Amino acid sequence: MAVSDKPLLGQVAIVTGASSGIGAAIATHLASAGASVAIAARREEKLNQLRDEIEANNGTVFVMKTDVAKREDVKRLVAETEKQLGPVDILVNNAGIMYYTYMRSIQEDQWERTIDINCKGVMNGIGAVLNGMLERKKGHIVNMSSNAGRASFPGLAVYTGTKYFVEGVSSSLRKEIAGTGVKITCIQPGDVTTELIAHTTDQEAKAEYADGSGEKVLDPSDVARAVVYAVSQPSHVAVNEILIEPRHAPAV
Ligand code: NDP
Repeated sequence: MAVSDKPLLGQVAIVTGASSGIGAAIATHLASAGASVAIAARREEKLNQLRDEIEANNGTVFVMKTDVAKREDVKRLVAETEKQLGPVDILVNNAGIMYYTYMRSIQEDQWERTIDINCKGVMNGIGAVLNGMLERKKGHIVNMSSNAGRASFPGLAVYTGTKYFVEGVSSSLRKEIAGTGVKITCIQPGDVTTELIAHTTDQEAKAEYADGSGEKVLDPSDVARAVVYAVSQPSHVAVNEILIEPRHAPAV
């Protein structure tokens, strides 16, 4: 394969939430583009399956069971990845959860879990890699936002709030570190076919607000290609955000 087919050869990437859906597709695409990839999530079995698939395609993978809501877990993930694969060039903060629910249902446990994973999880990732990247004067943090980081969605108020949080932190950080060599990208997908919706318990809210059009939504690989595009640019180019939605459902 020509070198141009492997734009990320020699680079080290970490993908959180890689045990399913978008994260698994991102890990696969980054490995195909030549990166060595550390894959992290809580379900180790699923990670091991993905490792086998990537290795079968000659990719280099390191598996680490990680709960992104736990700061120490994420620090350990980065430290072990650097031991096994080398300094981290790309961190994809992809792990996330979503529950359709009415605010009046006061699902405080679901609110808290959503904030712990979608907000604190991203902060734990940034905290674990930022100074290393700044010292090396290179690195790329990709945060999985959503079109819900650009527009509000009823039935998803707390989820929307977490994605606005991701956008706010990313935008401020980008300006703070401009010129250091470190880049921040937000990916903003609309509906993608994954397990994300399966955690919802409030079926009434889901029935009212989830897309029931039957139209084709995005595949995880559609989002993964956007990530590879963002991280494969020349060093002077910053792709700060990518909004990618199903054709039938512009929400922003
Ligand atoms: P999935 O449910 O398929 O994947 C979520 C991933 O996050 C899983 O790998 C899960 O792994 C992981 N995860 C959840 N909690 C934790 C945790 N505490 N620690 C580590 N990993 C965790 O959904 P998607 O692939 O759809 O979601 C991925 C990201 O994409 C999320 O941030 C989501 O908000 C975003 N997104 C999704 C859209 C969609 O329509 N699907 C649209 C826009 C954005 P495990 O359970 O093994 O820990």
